[in-house]
Amino acid sequence: MPKLVTAQDGDTLCGIAMDNGFLNCDPLRAEAANAPFLNRPLAAGDVVTVPDIVVKKSDHTTSQIHKFLKKNSPPVSIRLVHGSPDKPYLQDDTLTALNISNYPTDKGGLEGNHAFPTGFGFNPDGHADEDTFKIEIVDPSAGGTLFANMEALRPFYRPDHTVDHHDTFAGVSDADDRKTVAVHCKQVSSGHVAFRSAYLRLVADQIDNISQQTLLITDAVDAGLPEIEILDQKVRATYVVKACNAAGDAKCKVTTDVPLAAGRAFDLAVRVMRATPTGVVETNPGGPGDDGIVKLADIRKRVQTFVRRCWAQSHIKPNLVTLQTMDLPSDMITVADTTGLPARGTQDAAAVPGQIGFTLSVQRFGGGSNSVHNIVPFSVPAGSTPQQTAALIQQSVQGIPGVTATVSPNPPEVGDPDGSCDVLFREASGGRITITNLTPLASQDADQKVAAIGLTMVVNRRNADDNYHVGHPEQRNLVKSLDTPGDVVIDVTVIDAFPSATLMGFTVPELKNLDPDRQPVSGVKNSIIMARRASTAGDEIPFALAHEIGHVLTDEGRHALSNHELMFHITPVNSVSTDDSKRIVEHLPAANNWQITVQHHDANRTVGGQNTRLNATFHVNNIASPHLLH
Ligand SMILES: [Zn+2]
Repeated sequence: MPKLVTAQDGDTLCGIAMDNGFLNCDPLRAEAANAPFLNRPLAAGDVVTVPDIVVKKSDHTTSQIHKFLKKNSPPVSIRLVHGSPDKPYLQDDTLTALNISNYPTDKGGLEGNHAFPTGFGFNPDGHADEDTFKIEIVDPSAGGTLFANMEALRPFYRPDHTVDHHDTFAGVSDADDRKTVAVHCKQVSSGHVAFRSAYLRLVADQIDNISQQTLLITDAVDAGLPEIEILDQKVRATYVVKACNAAGDAKCKVTTDVPLAAGRAFDLAVRVMRATPTGVVETNPGGPGDDGIVKLADIRKRVQTFVRRCWAQSHIKPNLVTLQTMDLPSDMITVADTTGLPARGTQDAAAVPGQIGFTLSVQRFGGGSNSVHNIVPFSVPAGSTPQQTAALIQQSVQGIPGVTATVSPNPPEVGDPDGSCDVLFREASGGRITITNLTPLASQDADQKVAAIGLTMVVNRRNADDNYHVGHPEQRNLVKSLDTPGDVVIDVTVIDAFPSATLMGFTVPELKNLDPDRQPVSGVKNSIIMARRASTAGDEIPFALAHEIGHVLTDEGRHALSNHELMFHITPVNSVSTDDSKRIVEHLPAANNWQITVQHHDANRTVGGQNTRLNATFHVNNIASPHLLH
C-alpha cells in the first residue's frame, strides 16, 4: 500500500524516496498525487505519496533499488561547518554565521605565512583562519565527488533601512560574480554518507576572488545599488541531488542560507572643502554647491566601496551621517603656540606691556554686506595664561554683530608649562572671517606670542611624539571648527594636499591609553584630514581612507608591522594583489605584529613605540572603540 509522508522544511522528493528505499525520486514523481510538488521545493506539511517498492526478479530492476540504503539513513542535507581536528564529521558544529576572511586569500597558518590548503580534509593551515568554512553534503545514495554551488543573497530593505528579506542577486548586472559554482565536495571516506569541500573563504573584493575556494560578498555600488551592505548579506549553499533524474530546475535540491555576522556601525561625517568661499553648505551630490576639491559622490563612493570592504573583515560598517561641501573655516588666533608660556608683561626690548590688536573682516554671502572691525590694541597683563589672554581676545570682539569667538585651550606640548590656546571665530549667517593687521611680534608680549591662522587647501600638521596630541594651528583650526560635537562621530575633512605631497591622510585618535596631558582635546580627537588624491571616485590609493579610520578605531597613531595589514605605514597606490595592505588581523599570532604606543611615566611623559601582539579586530570592537560603534 502506498504510504503518506508529511514533509518537513528542507525535505526533497529524492530524500523521501531514498529514505524509503528508492534510488531517486522517479517513482514518487510518477505518482499522480505528487503532481503539485514536481516543480517546487517541498514545504512543511506537504503530504507526499510514497509508492510500494516492487522487487522484480530481473537483474535490470533490482539494480534500481539501492541495496545499501536503510530506512533510517540520514536524509539528504547540506550545511556549513568549520571542521575540527578530532570530532567525527557529523558531530562538528553547524555554522550559524559567517565572516569575511582577514587573511591574504592564498595564505593560511596562524601567522598567515603558509600556503592556503587546496586539498580536502583537516589541515591546520586552513583551520587557523577562524573565518574559513566547508560545505558538507550528506547523501547516503552517492559516492565519489559531489558538486555544490554557493552564492551571495541580496538584502532587501524596508524604508528605515532594516532588512526585510533576502533573495538572490538575479537581475543585478554583476550577479554572476557573486556565485561560485561546482564546488567540489569529496566523500570523507569510502562508504561514508558525508561529503566535504576544501576550506572556503568569503572575500570582499574581486582581487581576492581567486578560485573555487572563494565567494565574493561585496558592495553593489557599481551595479547601481549603493544601499546594499556587505554585512547584511547571506550565503546560500545548494546541492542538487546527484541521483535526481528530474529536468532542470525541477531537480531535487537542498539549500542552506547562513547570514554574515551583522556586526556594528560607526558614524562618519565627511566635509569637502572648497577653495573659493561662497557661503554655501551643499548636502546634495551634484547640487549647485557641489564644487569642492572632490565631488560628494566621489568621496561617498570611497566610503561605500573600499571602506566598507576593508572594515567588513572586522564586522563593522560605515554609517555616513554627514556629507557636505563647504568653505574653509574662518581665520583663528592662537596664543603661545608651541610654548604655552604665560605673559611676561613686557615687550621685547621695552618696559611696556605687550599689545594685541587686529582687524577683523567679515565677508558675507547671500545679500549680507561685508564689514570691517578694527580691534584697538589692548595690553596683556603680566602672568596671563594663554587661556586668560585668549579670553581677552574673545572680549575684544564682543558686540560685533553675528560674530562669535570661542576660547579653545590645548593640552601642553611635552616640556611646556601650560597648553597654548586658540580663539575660533564664526559668523552666524555663514560668513567668512579674516584676521589681518595683527600687532607685530616686536610689540607683542616678549614671551607669549599670538598669531593669526588662515587656512588654504594645503594644511600643515604636527606629528612628533611631543606635539602629535596638540597638532599644528592650521590643523586645529580646520578640525576644531568642523567638529561634530560629542566625540562619537569620526570627522573627515577633505583638502587638496599636505605640504608633503605623498601624505594621503592624517588622523588624531583619542589616545586613551596615554597620560591625560598627552590626550588630544575634544574637537581634535577622532579627526581625519584626507588629501584629494585619496578621496576621488577612482581606485587611486584605495585603502587610505579605511587606514585613517583604522587609526581612530584602533585608537593608535602607530602602525602594524606586516605589509599585508591595513594599518601598515604605507598604503598601496592601487588595488592589484591579494598581498595588498588591507587586512585587519583577527587572531593572536605567535609573533609580534603591531607597533603600539606606550606611555613611560617619567618626568617628560615620554611616548614611545613598542612591538606588541594585537588582535586588531577584537581590540577595535571590545577595547578601543566600543563607544564609537552602534
Ligand atoms: Zn597611518
